[in-house]
Amino acid sequence: MGHVTMSVTPATASADIGAPSRATAAKRISVLGATGSVGHSTLDLISRNRDKFQVVALTANSNAGQLAELAVRHRAEIAVVADPARYRDLKDGLAGTGIEAAAGPEALVEAATRSADCVMAGISGAAGLKPTLAAVAQGRRVALANKECLVCAGDMFMQAVRTAGAELLPVDSEHAGVFQALAGANAADIERIVITASGGPFRTWTREQLAHATPAQALAHPNWSMGPKISIDSATLMNKGLELIEAYHLFPVEPHQLEVVVHPQSIVHAMVGYRDGSMLAQLANPDMRTPIAASLAWPARMAAPTKRIDLVELGTLTFERPDEARFRALGLARQALQQGGMAPAVLSAANEIAVDAFLTGRLGFLQIAQLVADTLEAAGKRGLLSDAADLSAVVGADAAARDLALNLLRGQTRAARS
Ligand code: NDP
Repeated sequence: MGHVTMSVTPATASADIGAPSRATAAKRISVLGATGSVGHSTLDLISRNRDKFQVVALTANSNAGQLAELAVRHRAEIAVVADPARYRDLKDGLAGTGIEAAAGPEALVEAATRSADCVMAGISGAAGLKPTLAAVAQGRRVALANKECLVCAGDMFMQAVRTAGAELLPVDSEHAGVFQALAGANAADIERIVITASGGPFRTWTREQLAHATPAQALAHPNWSMGPKISIDSATLMNKGLELIEAYHLFPVEPHQLEVVVHPQSIVHAMVGYRDGSMLAQLANPDMRTPIAASLAWPARMAAPTKRIDLVELGTLTFERPDEARFRALGLARQALQQGGMAPAVLSAANEIAVDAFLTGRLGFLQIAQLVADTLEAAGKRGLLSDAADLSAVVGADAAARDLALNLLRGQTRAARS
């Protein structure tokens, strides 16, 4: 598998977004997944820097009302809702504003390819793959929050980045941290990459307690405010597993050079260890506006209204090994990474089904990892884990994995009732 080594060059004064005296053209930016958590944080930063950014396209899945409001507030050129049934609501919300309205999967791809300096890929789940790949194919700068792009189709995605000469900037806080701590290093000098996990709301819970964890408890993340899917993934540690796969594709390391440590304070996001024994860490308070700002302004910096770190107030930063017996998802993701092919895509698809079932009360917390493990096993038996030749094969494997997971889920639900 190949990697892209992202070169980090020093910030140049002419690119300094934060310098008010310098008149630079506003950056044209599109936000895919504008109504989500990453989308809101991105638009918050943009609204604080109106003269520095011009909003091109904003997209959502079905939340047409909120999308229309955002498009008006941020003076977007076009707003696109993926669900065609919500087109009328969007059109009505934009009536008289001159902002274009569109709907459906093709319109989403068209929005992603509109002329822009940067596309924020903030759609959740595998649904983000097609539009993000379309933005990459235009050779755009893509700020990548949607980790599923790399989990489901990492090799293909990175090949597309190389072919198009696109610029990929990681937004996930840990990967944004690695990106900064790499500081233009040679791959041969990197010994290991460490990403941190908060441990989520159940870090200290026993297996017995975990068996009765409710969606409300799992959604109450101690440090981060995020969308529902990633919040549950943080509680199971699947999020960290997906991030290991993401890191493997983004950075020039082998799987054994990637480590996870639990760091409940979520202040240190990532560390890069070098062969001279140095370790460079990236620290910030847990607020997505910091990594988003880093990607929007790169290679310069821009102001973000986040709480600053007070080391003395913090006093102690602690680190622990993750307990993979209680949090099986991490080990499953590591196995899928080792296995390669479609295993990570199947893992991710099964996890999406399992998380949705947990959130809607159809599956217990511990059964999330179980359903993922069972789906991987069933997919292996059906020969679904081998390499995919192209995007349609990835989409096919994703759909087959969802069907398998849903069938297994129905079986479990029936067994639980009888
Ligand atoms: P949210 O659930 O808050 O938002 C998801 C966004 O994607 C919404 O705008 C939603 O629209 C849209 N969307 C969902 N499904 C589809 C679909 N099928 N087609 C088109 N658009 C769709 O997610 P987050 O902002 O939390 O996460 C977004 C991505 O960023 C995820 O991949 C996540 O892993 C990653 N990430 C998130 C972080 C965070 O702090 N939130 C941190 C690091 C990474 P609608 O509102 O209409 O449903």
